[in-house]
Amino acid sequence: MLRVDPDRLRADFDALAAIGGTAAGGVNRPTFGDAHLAARAWFLERAAAAGLEAHVDAAGNHSAVLPAAAAGAPTLLLGSHLDSVLDGGRFDGGLGVVAALEALRTVQDARLELPVALEAIDFTDEEGTLVGLLGSWAVTGALSPEVLRAPRGGRDALLAGLARVGLAEERLADARREPGSLAGYLELHIEQGPVLERKGVEIGIVTGIVGSRSFRIRFAGAAAHAGTTPMDVRRDAGLGAAAFVVGVRELVVRAYPGAVATVGNIRLEPGGFNVVPGLAHLALEFRSPDAAQLDALEAALVALAHGLADAHGLEVEIEPVGRWEPTSLDPAVRAAIERAAGALGLSTLELPSGAGHDAQALAAVTPSGMIFVPSRGGVSHRPDEYTAWEDCVNGANVLLGAALELGSSECPFQQ
Ligand SMILES: [Zn+2]
Repeated sequence: MLRVDPDRLRADFDALAAIGGTAAGGVNRPTFGDAHLAARAWFLERAAAAGLEAHVDAAGNHSAVLPAAAAGAPTLLLGSHLDSVLDGGRFDGGLGVVAALEALRTVQDARLELPVALEAIDFTDEEGTLVGLLGSWAVTGALSPEVLRAPRGGRDALLAGLARVGLAEERLADARREPGSLAGYLELHIEQGPVLERKGVEIGIVTGIVGSRSFRIRFAGAAAHAGTTPMDVRRDAGLGAAAFVVGVRELVVRAYPGAVATVGNIRLEPGGFNVVPGLAHLALEFRSPDAAQLDALEAALVALAHGLADAHGLEVEIEPVGRWEPTSLDPAVRAAIERAAGALGLSTLELPSGAGHDAQALAAVTPSGMIFVPSRGGVSHRPDEYTAWEDCVNGANVLLGAALELGSSECPFQQ
């Protein structure tokens, strides 16, 4: 059975981790910063050194390509991202890119002739310094003008970033690939959660990527003197907010298995020691892999907010501010990952991803799958993010095995 070269993979992984490396052992490579650009240049150099074709598309996605023998063959994408969050870890994104590159080199060294081209791709701005999934949405043709007009990192930062690397906003859409030109998408990534480690499982097969919804909630009562206003006549917006935080948790734990909900911010007004709060502003976000469950949970959370407002003599306003639909990953790709892991004698577990990934964009246009490897303590987006090296190599071998199956002529979606 074909396997990746673990020493070559390790040398690349360490070289990449040194680019934008921090004293705490993580990396700092926000999109289009010096370290991010250096990492991308390094990736293309490694591709060229291996004799692979190197490409950059109109959305700045960086690729190494092992062409197919036949012209016009579809392309199987293997990828992840080289950008990081501020003060992030060295495994998130980087592992998937170096493993994809190593898979191409392994196939090349073995002189295997596949009926597909293999492409290791580093997607632009996965983490959302500027937009989030910028490169992968562009590839699918779903990068919307509305998102570009009000990106999460701010319009000025987006335009400055694009200008810095010579990209033009009006040309980003040129990165779109015809779905018929793609044979699928595979991504190796760290889990970023504790499930695999807790269960002692080596490989996670991602069933889907959760959807999320976010809302601004405002409870309005009456600001009042904190010394002279008796407890029983207060209309305390802070009390409504506090009851809501507790109620959200109880509701999800009791009735919505598999979902999570978070009140990530609370601000009280006027906000003094000696004034009963008249206003409370809350940031609510909830996630689930299941669209029907998201609908039901949304209705229950809205009812909870109204019920608590009534109980405490408050008014409530609820404003939707964000929405991602859940994405399920392709059953045939999941089965190929399962077989690849089985052939290596590795234990597997199917699980959803609670974090967003480029695969959620790609899944709309091509059969897509993700391989997870364990994250120590479930920690991610931190410098102490860690995955045992043996797990990284296992993940790279599963990526290779699944790519060989999907890229072979027996592949179900090739026929
Ligand atoms: Zn990532």
